[in-house]
Amino acid sequence: MTHKCDALVVSCIDFRFQKYIRDWTGTWLNGKTFDFVGFAGATKDLQTIMKQIDISVKLHQIKEVYLIHHEDCGAYGDQSTPERHHQDLLKAKQAILDRYPHLKVYLYYLHLDGRFEEVKV
Ligand SMILES: [Zn+2]
Repeated sequence: MTHKCDALVVSCIDFRFQKYIRDWTGTWLNGKTFDFVGFAGATKDLQTIMKQIDISVKLHQIKEVYLIHHEDCGAYGDQSTPERHHQDLLKAKQAILDRYPHLKVYLYYLHLDGRFEEVKV
């Protein structure tokens, strides 16, 4: 018996952003099913996140991954600059594609006011 889902969403644990993320997934992933990982700093600890992606791929045959970093992230502290987040998002995307070239990976930087900025190469 297998059960599949469409996507995996990775975000920070920060409570200030959860409503924005729920609203966003409600709109952009409307009608899709997804696994969800909440971890401080989102992909900052990439090894840990890769393990979650491995499980999501293996168990649910996901096709898409959404990585959401955010402004003013406590897990980054003084390092929480847009440049650093963009850099870490791109690094995570590359690591995921190296292991799972068939996945579509989308990157977002979530601002304090709830605005989702898509990060592209
Ligand atoms: Zn955070």
